[in-house]
Parts: sequence; C-alpha cells; structure tokens
Amino acid sequence: SILVFGSINMDLVVQTPRLPQPGETLTGYNFLSVAGGKGANQAVAASRLGAKTEMVGRVGGDAFAQELLEGLKANRVGCEGVLRDNCTHSGLATIAVDNNGENQIIVIPGANGCVGPEDVQRLEPLWEEATSLLLQLEIPLKAVEAAIHAAKNAGVRVILDPAPAPDVFPQQLYPLVDIITPNETEASQLVGFAVNNVETAQKAADTLLDFGVKTAVIKLGSKGVFWATKSESFWVPAFAVNAVDTVAAGDAFNGGMAAALDEGRSLKEAILWGAATGALSTTQVGAQSSLPDRQALDDVLMP
Ligand code: ADP
Repeated sequence: SILVFGSINMDLVVQTPRLPQPGETLTGYNFLSVAGGKGANQAVAASRLGAKTEMVGRVGGDAFAQELLEGLKANRVGCEGVLRDNCTHSGLATIAVDNNGENQIIVIPGANGCVGPEDVQRLEPLWEEATSLLLQLEIPLKAVEAAIHAAKNAGVRVILDPAPAPDVFPQQLYPLVDIITPNETEASQLVGFAVNNVETAQKAADTLLDFGVKTAVIKLGSKGVFWATKSESFWVPAFAVNAVDTVAAGDAFNGGMAAALDEGRSLKEAILWGAATGALSTTQVGAQSSLPDRQALDDVLMP
C-alpha cells in the first residue's frame, strides 16, 4: 500500500480571462470549491489508479473538514490516520486560473500547519503493508523530518515532493530520500541555479544525487521530465494533451509514479505512469476533480 503524510486543503478556485496585476480588480467567470492539498491530491491520484492508499494528516473543526474526509473516502483513501483538530480551520487554498491554464495560488495552512512529529505515530500501524511514503512540504518541516526517519526505520521507500519550494532544506535529509521530485521552481531553489531545460535539469539532477538522494526526478511541466540515478539518466518528453489547468499536475505525477511502484513495476515504467497521470490531470479543471482513473491512464499508455 501507499502512505501519504501531508496536507489536506479545500481549494477555492476562480477562473478569470487573465491573472490580475497587484492592486488590480478583475471580473472572473466561474467559481468552484474542490478538495485539494498536495498530500490529499497525491493520495487520491494513487487510489484512483487502483493502489491501496492511506492518508495521515489533519483537518480542522470547520464545515470543510467533513466534506474533505467524505471526498477522500469516496476515493477509497483510508482516513483512520486523519485527525480532526478542533482548535483550527481546515487548510485552505485560493486559486486563480487563467485561460491559458496558468495559475496563482495562496495557501492558508490551518490544520496542516499544526501537524507535528507526534502525528507520525499514526503511521505506525500502517508501515507493515506499505511500499512508499509520499511526502510534500505543506506541513511543518519538523513533521516531515520525523516521518522520513520513521520510514527509514520501517524500510519503506521515501518519495519527497519538495513543494512548495523551501527556503532552506536540511542537507542531512537528502541521503534518506529515495526519490525526490522537484518541478523547475523547486529544483532551482534546492540547487541554487535556474533549472528550465534539459541541460540545467541534468545539472540539477547530478547536484541532488551528489547531495545523497538515490533518484532525482525533475518535472519540467509541458517540456517533460528528466530523471537520473547514479548509473543512468533519461529525458522523457511530455505526453501531448490540451492543457486547461495545471493545478495538481505535479501531485498527479507523484501519485501515478507511486501507484506503479506499488504494483512492483520498474522505475522507468513508474516515471511514464507519472508523466501520463500528470498530463491527463491538466486536461480538466481543479485538483482532485482533475485526477484520472485507471481506464484513462491505460488508454494513454496502451493506445
Ligand atoms: P508542478 O505541478 O509541480 O508544477 P509540473 O508542472 O512540472 O509540476 O507538472 C508535473 C508533470 O505533469 C510534468 O512533469 C508532466 O509530466 C505533466 N505535465 C504538466 N503540464 C503538462 C502539459 N501541459 N502537457 C503534458 N504534460 C504535462
């Protein structure tokens, strides 16, 4: 099974012809509230592809909490490890999406910001069956750090999405990460130079491998994916799709990759699953609402 330790958000999405400048008021043309949060998105992405998936994290004491838990359960994501924290509100994200599918996002952490090392205890009963632990950086770093150590003790693969890009990332954690999956912005932040094409992605992957990660996967949006281990490296072009909203593409990628690995597939195949799941997610608006099912994935991988 797949374990996800991370954020659970309600996304408040507005569609607008273009993104506003600072101080500018625009009239948009659509509103929807959809379940999101990088952690929950990755959990739903993996579960929709058929992987047994468990979520560990927190929701708040507000009305969104119930809706968020019901949404996860409707996608067959196990929620026994999700704590209802009545001291705060559920994580929220306000998201503006323009006609080109570009977005602007503000996250208010709420319950996600209250997740700490003590929450790792709720992963304990789940390690035995687990193949991978999926992590992101929308919960406090201290909690992520504790989860990485616990996963290592349990012999479970650590897949870290260093998103949103951290100001500083503890150097000693890299050797404990099996697969790191930054996008261009996050990779640039981690390695200290601009990452935006094959050459710079290659350099970034080499740098992350030198830091100690076992596999570096650099996600470059519509350009594709560059990935490398100490012994091999590959450039995987993006699947051609009509992108309308790239929210959660990176999460879809990680969920798809983990689902393939959970079935015992190779890393090479898992990256293809990730790329296809990411591409499919851009063809629909929203976070969890845009994630493909197994049939849609199979249609892309075996046309
Ligand atoms: P993030 O959402 O974290 O910024 P990316 O934008 O790099 O991450 O998207 C993650 C993955 O989803 C990409 O590596 C690619 O495989 C796929 N993807 C994203 N945007 C597109 C697109 N426009 N066309 C095809 N695939 C895409």
